Amino acid sequence: MIELVAFDGDDTLWHNESIFSMTQSRFADLMEPYVEDADLEERLFATEMRNLRLFGYGVKSFTLSMIETAIELSHGRVSAHEIQAIIDAGRGMLEHPVELLAGAEDAIDRVSERYPVMLITKGDLFDQESKLARSGLGERFEAVEIVAEKDEMAYRRILSQRGVPADRFVMVGNSGRSDILPTLALGAWAVHVPYPLLWTHEHVDENRLVAHERYRRIESLADLTEALDDLAANSANSHGGADPTG
Ligand SMILES: [Mg+2]
Repeated sequence: MIELVAFDGDDTLWHNESIFSMTQSRFADLMEPYVEDADLEERLFATEMRNLRLFGYGVKSFTLSMIETAIELSHGRVSAHEIQAIIDAGRGMLEHPVELLAGAEDAIDRVSERYPVMLITKGDLFDQESKLARSGLGERFEAVEIVAEKDEMAYRRILSQRGVPADRFVMVGNSGRSDILPTLALGAWAVHVPYPLLWTHEHVDENRLVAHERYRRIESLADLTEALDDLAANSANSHGGADPTG
């Protein structure tokens, strides 16, 4: 039995990583005179990881990390003009139109005919609220949670506030790290919809997931209702108790 279905936002309902990737190319062009042998992508990622604990996720943190990486890699030679270009690239990300993934609206509508539907997304509160508003999807959700980190604790809090037992909750998302592992660990169900691009930080070994009985992987949101039917049938079985087939 399913009592609540939650969608992730970034790269599940709307494009996100593609915008980061575009900006990273712009950053690479800007840094070209300074990088020499350094691996720019690796250095930027290291800066982001170092800053994560203090800055959290999101475009503003990413922009600060680009500036910091630029200063380090150029040994302080990066110009004010170039730093302004990095800031402009960050601003461009914040103003970038929100582009929905194919079938996003339809998937939410079809699921919400049968189950309460909410959005659980992580990152910068202001940016995520703005993206949700620009997505035009806000009205479709019964509830929205924007959290600093999508870990077991965050999911547990959301479920307990809503009085939903973990084994009656389904999380739908693109990230193994944020959407799948913590919800499986809680005893909930997870539907994985991979996006073509995945930030290194969100990567998990999929072999850890595929064997899990409460894990489903689909290629696109068009397959979601079928996956939920399958989950619902399996969760009914597992509560029947007499003949678990898992
Ligand atoms: Mg995501």
